[in-house]
Amino acid sequence: MTFSSPVTRFAPSPTGFLHLGHAFCALFAHGQAVDRGGRFLLRIEDIDPVRCKLDFETAIYEDLSWLGLTWEMPVRRQSDHLADYRQALDRLEGMGLLYPCFCSRKDIASSGQAPHGPDGPLYPGICKRLSLDQRAERIGAGQPFALRLEMERAVALAGALTWRDLDQGEQKARPEIFGDVVLARKDAPTSYHLAVTLDDHLQEVTLVTRGVDLFEATHVHRLLQALLGLNVPAWRHHPLLMGPSGLRLAKRDQAQSLRALRNEGLSPQAVRSMAMGRESANP
Ligand code: GLU
Repeated sequence: MTFSSPVTRFAPSPTGFLHLGHAFCALFAHGQAVDRGGRFLLRIEDIDPVRCKLDFETAIYEDLSWLGLTWEMPVRRQSDHLADYRQALDRLEGMGLLYPCFCSRKDIASSGQAPHGPDGPLYPGICKRLSLDQRAERIGAGQPFALRLEMERAVALAGALTWRDLDQGEQKARPEIFGDVVLARKDAPTSYHLAVTLDDHLQEVTLVTRGVDLFEATHVHRLLQALLGLNVPAWRHHPLLMGPSGLRLAKRDQAQSLRALRNEGLSPQAVRSMAMGRESANP
């Protein structure tokens, strides 16, 4: 694989205003592409119908333009492509790798002490044990359900996999640490893992850059690539920016939002330097 002209992307969710941490992620992805003659894409990850708002999406375009970034058009908005995710789910279903799960978070929490994975308690398999008739009956009765991946079967089918982080080197894929992950949510016909992996393939992204908090998620993405026959990019997982309290910045830290900094009279250049300078101060 060549990294001389990488295709990178910044993929925010419009669930709040962008903050300094997002500015760093966007500048990082942009820098990785344009410094090496590549292409930079922006993608709006808006599959969550409750938390995602059009006003926040508009603000993303405004804030990134104000920072001085440009990106290729058209921007891919995940909510415009739900049929793509459905198709991928159909393929996995056809391979016998999915099952419907009717459980609520509470059902899972109260089912005993399940071991934890990177996303919380591992799913204890309650709905995996339902018979086909029981599944059909509950679906027929209109009960909402998610679709989960049968992890053990999927891993057995895909065989041993590796992926490459440009900073941390070759990694052995360990998707099993997530257990039976959700690939379609009750409220959305996909999940983060499926949408991000399929989109990176469809948009021909060759270098995925994102925060180190998503390092483990890459194990699942590598598995999905193998199962669905998708392109395999390289990855760089960068440090997260910390706020004044020493915790990672979150959308609720409004003082660090790009709008707040702009309203204080800071220039785009000053905010760019703050974002990039803060990173180098991270351990
Ligand atoms: N939409 C994700 C987020 O806002 C980023 C996904 C990714 O870069 O893989 O955290």
